[in-house]
Amino acid sequence: MTSTLVFTDMDGTLLDHHTYSFDAAKPALDALEKKHIPVVPTTSKTFAEMKVLREQIGLNGPFIIENGAAVYIPHGFFKQKPAGTVWVDGYWCKAFISSKNYWLKLLEKVSKEFRDEFTHFSAMDIDDIQAATGLDTDSAKLASQRQFGEPVLWKGTEERKQAFIKAIAARGATPLEGGRFVHISGNSDKGQALSWLVAEYQRQHVSKVHSIALGDGKNDIAMLEAADTAVRILSPVNPPPDIQKEEVHTSTLHGPEGWNEMLTKLLSL
Ligand SMILES: [Mg+2]
Repeated sequence: MTSTLVFTDMDGTLLDHHTYSFDAAKPALDALEKKHIPVVPTTSKTFAEMKVLREQIGLNGPFIIENGAAVYIPHGFFKQKPAGTVWVDGYWCKAFISSKNYWLKLLEKVSKEFRDEFTHFSAMDIDDIQAATGLDTDSAKLASQRQFGEPVLWKGTEERKQAFIKAIAARGATPLEGGRFVHISGNSDKGQALSWLVAEYQRQHVSKVHSIALGDGKNDIAMLEAADTAVRILSPVNPPPDIQKEEVHTSTLHGPEGWNEMLTKLLSL
């Protein structure tokens, strides 16, 4: 027997890049629910953001947060306690990297060398975060509750920024350059988290898993490569992620329209 698990990015994939709506994906979401196929959000968002968002979407299974830093599994999804997890806020949590405090201490160590050249989420108030991200107040509050990584807002020159990234990496972090922020955390990715959950599912259900992953960006590459079936969702703002895999599917429609299109086709929903 083979069980199917769907792993999906949120922004630009299940959620529309501009409006954050998932309305166009509802037919496929409903069909997956009827077939008891779990849809696992696999996102850069925080636990606080996902707790709210998964209920809005109507998902009640596991979810992967902060770009693969941790997997959260609701009580009852598995019969046994998943290996290597701890009980956090009503979920079994499997973390792959150190918590935020570890990276904050590391930032403190380099702060002498880069004084006044950066600030970071934990040192910013909600107004600062809103100004830097464009999020509304509630969203900024949820986004600020990061557990595993720390976004750094760079204020110095590009040259000094590269020196900062080098200094941080030399101390064991894995800095990731985003649009406005340099994200400081450990070496985890969405692919590693997917593989762990698939292995645990196979162990507990004694069935083979067929994993399908859907994503639209660079931070989805590891997840798409780790899945049995990779689906690239067309983005209105960036080219499809470049992945090393023989069989890759690409939607013809954007975001949730593409999500609905591809899952309906691939799973004959
Ligand atoms: Mg995305």
